[in-house]
Amino acid sequence: MSNRKCNFGAGPCTLPLEVLQQAQQEFVDFHGAGMSLIEMSHRSKEYDSVHSEAMSLAKDVFGTPDDFEILFLQGGATLQFAMVPMNFLKPDNVAAYVDSGSWASKAISDAKLYGNVYVAWDGSECNYTRMPADSELELRDGTRYLHITSNETIGGIRYADWPNAGVPMISDMSSDFMSRPIPWERFDLVYGGVQKNLAPSGMAVVFIRKNVIEELNQDIGAYLRYGIHAKSLSLYNTPPVFTIYMMLLVIRWMKGLGGLPVIERMADEKADVLYKVIDQSGGFFNCPIDEKYRSRMNIVFRLRGEELERKFLSEAGAAELIGLKGHRSVGGCRASCYNALPKACVDTLAQFMREFQRVNG
Ligand SMILES: *Cc1c(COP(=O)(O)O)cnc(C)c1O
Repeated sequence: MSNRKCNFGAGPCTLPLEVLQQAQQEFVDFHGAGMSLIEMSHRSKEYDSVHSEAMSLAKDVFGTPDDFEILFLQGGATLQFAMVPMNFLKPDNVAAYVDSGSWASKAISDAKLYGNVYVAWDGSECNYTRMPADSELELRDGTRYLHITSNETIGGIRYADWPNAGVPMISDMSSDFMSRPIPWERFDLVYGGVQKNLAPSGMAVVFIRKNVIEELNQDIGAYLRYGIHAKSLSLYNTPPVFTIYMMLLVIRWMKGLGGLPVIERMADEKADVLYKVIDQSGGFFNCPIDEKYRSRMNIVFRLRGEELERKFLSEAGAAELIGLKGHRSVGGCRASCYNALPKACVDTLAQFMREFQRVNG
């Protein structure tokens, strides 16, 4: 397919071409069932095999230990901002949050509606250009969990080393979901919207430690309780069938490539290409992020002045390099290089950036 653009959008994101093609081929008549997957019962044997393989393969590829349950929930990562505190917080405990940027702030403001929440580290003081060191986290007694955002999609920062805070962690991993191994023993819960690295939109995947489920609050609506979904294997109500099916195809593709170690290396290679262009541009392109904390998924950079940025974005678009505009709240440029973005697209962008500097520098 020769007219496929390079999609650097922050989400929804590019998906592997072979996955799209397989889905297209299987779409109208799913495996000879005489109907499509999205028309049939979510209790059918055809769908059941998709659902259970998606669960087991996601855990397999992500290296999830057996003492975690995987849940498929609607409402995206945004619903998890509320669901986490609704389930975990009680009158006699508190929750710590790292304020690392736009997404963390949203998690904090929702959590405050449901319990006692405090900010253990405030990144606004360094303009959100890095993540905290463990020694900077100010944790209080009775802290039930520390909530982190593993990768800030808008600010372009990530944890290079995972915090070791001495309390169980909960992480929003939406924008670097399944792009690198994680230290599961430090987490009680991990969640992410799937539309950045794994699938089309419509779902969050939640991994929750099995032995915490019993302690969670019961006095909330059924859909909002992790325990209900765990018990019914995410079939309490009608699940987002098409999203789960697409995620299965993507995860099979990831496994076929060699799993997380290969995915992580690919991400490093892609990000390195772009940071190198930025760092070697003598300030023509500028990335304000502390080198150690630079995101491998969302590479943010600025040019000298908004007019030049507009020209850059418009010429990039004309060269079929799309989605490079920074988030509307911060401006600038952002190249999102999720798992399925081909390395060739990154190389094309690097070449385009160098040429743009040669002409405009
Ligand atoms: C995109 C994103 C979200 C929001 O995800 P939705 O699934 O759209 O609710 C939350 N957190 C992070 C880090 C994100 O990148």
